[in-house]
Amino acid sequence: MSNVSEPEFQQAYKELSSTLENSTLFKKFPAYRKALEVSSIPERIIQFRVTWENDKGECQVNSGFRVQFNSALGPYKGGLRFHPSVNLSILKFLGFEQIFKNALTGLNMGGGKGGADFDPKGKSDNEIRKFCVAFMRELNKHIGADTDVPAGDIGVSPREIGWMFGTYRAERNRWEGVLTGKGGNWGGSLIRPEATGYGLVYYVQHMIQYASSGKESFQGKRVAISGSGNVAQYAALKAIELGATIVSLSDSKGSIIATDDKGITPELVNYIADLKVKRKALTELSESPEYKDKFRYIEGARPWVHVGKVDVALPSATQNEVSGEEAEKLIANGCKFIAEGSNMGSTQEAIDVFEKARKEKKNDGIWYGPGKAANAGGVAVSGLEMAQNSARLKWTSEEVDEKLKGIMEACFKNCLDTAKEYVPSAEGELPSLVAGANIAGAIKVFAAM
Ligand code: GLU
Repeated sequence: MSNVSEPEFQQAYKELSSTLENSTLFKKFPAYRKALEVSSIPERIIQFRVTWENDKGECQVNSGFRVQFNSALGPYKGGLRFHPSVNLSILKFLGFEQIFKNALTGLNMGGGKGGADFDPKGKSDNEIRKFCVAFMRELNKHIGADTDVPAGDIGVSPREIGWMFGTYRAERNRWEGVLTGKGGNWGGSLIRPEATGYGLVYYVQHMIQYASSGKESFQGKRVAISGSGNVAQYAALKAIELGATIVSLSDSKGSIIATDDKGITPELVNYIADLKVKRKALTELSESPEYKDKFRYIEGARPWVHVGKVDVALPSATQNEVSGEEAEKLIANGCKFIAEGSNMGSTQEAIDVFEKARKEKKNDGIWYGPGKAANAGGVAVSGLEMAQNSARLKWTSEEVDEKLKGIMEACFKNCLDTAKEYVPSAEGELPSLVAGANIAGAIKVFAAM
């Protein structure tokens, strides 16, 4: 690994490599140690200038990137993030995670990630469109349906994908499945918007069922969620459908904690989804006569230490959104299951707290499901979108949802069985899903390399 200071990437690399070191993987496959070292360097990084014109007619400039990390399993695949924090450390961490996540879907996709330090906040629709067109005018030269297939991530929704897809078609004179997460009219898969959130809940369903020997489900569980974007919204809706009560959501400005026994209702989630489309903050909820008394608002804070008693926590906002202290507090408040809708949602300190509590059987055994397994449903349905585009077919929602359920079940079982095989654990201890996910992903990728 390079010595350049890339804190997020180094964190992601250490998280993966330490679990591999603490398992029997390298004993069984000594050559995989070299494969790990090789895999730490992206196959290629493309960095480019994006110039565009704002509504005042002024020239603006941003940095655009695509990290083509690993193509052993298939075309590079992974989202585009538009956020002012975007830099190579962030994109290398996301791209590295993506390699192993994509392997865990069981589909043939390599790993990549891209984006720009462009901040869509405060920009007009016209400015965002112009940025997307300018960004794709360069990126189109480096991607293709069998080369590299980007999708959305933070700041990039189906609307932005649509503008970029149109630009790709115009620039290259080709209609092909070069982007996923497209609108339905131009080849997007049904269930893709829902897939990350739904898949997260399906994964946690298996965690709950396994840990309770089939006795428990989401029914009656109190669930804390952070974030209020696509992943958080659909995780909330699916968990509610399965009988859970949602106690929190959040955005970059603060958190809402439900004060109503019913928790955050589907109607409120839909109301929030509308706010997000208009790019408004959760603070706007105080303007709603219908909802303003249903929650308390905590400014500038994440929900974890404010939610009180919960059974399940689903960090679904961004990286490093659970600290060691917040992890301790969640456990003290009875939380048993933690699974990430976001990428690297937990800090290493938080993971250490969860893993220690798993071994010490706190709350009968805490169980932590890492993002690269728990949120793999999004990219899995992207893979299904690629398949539909290549076959010039469109599957029904039911077909896609069934396939997503099957992929999440297989992913959970793979993490579980791999942990049992490669990590020695004490009698009655729940297997480590973080080790299982890392080792299972690594085996698939390193074997292909
Ligand atoms: N950005 C999503 C992720 O982190 C989806 C990527 C994709 O669909 O290619 O997995």
